[in-house]
Amino acid sequence: MSASDNRIPFGLKDGRYMDVTAVDSGLACGCVCPSCHKKLQAKKGTKMAHHFSHDPSQDHEGCRSAFETAVHKMAKQILSEEGVFVVPSLSVTERKKRGQAHYTIHKQDSCK
Ligand SMILES: [Zn+2]
Repeated sequence: MSASDNRIPFGLKDGRYMDVTAVDSGLACGCVCPSCHKKLQAKKGTKMAHHFSHDPSQDHEGCRSAFETAVHKMAKQILSEEGVFVVPSLSVTERKKRGQAHYTIHKQDSCK
């Protein structure tokens, strides 16, 4: 699995960043990669969380930052349109096991 195969959470369609839940499945989604602007397909199967991936018929090997760019651009779109960006309240616990750090993320019910 190369870096360009990472699951992409948001696609770009007609100048807007779109969540995968808001578009049709497959190439019918009409989205392009927020980073390299090549075609995306919306993968809305039953085994994995829904996401976008590059159209496998197009060369996208040079695209290394699709995930990061998609999240960054969607955050900017939300801030620009809503004026606020709310994230769930989380706490992270670090445990060392055999010299390696392991992290557990706990979602909290409400923001404090
Ligand atoms: Zn790309």
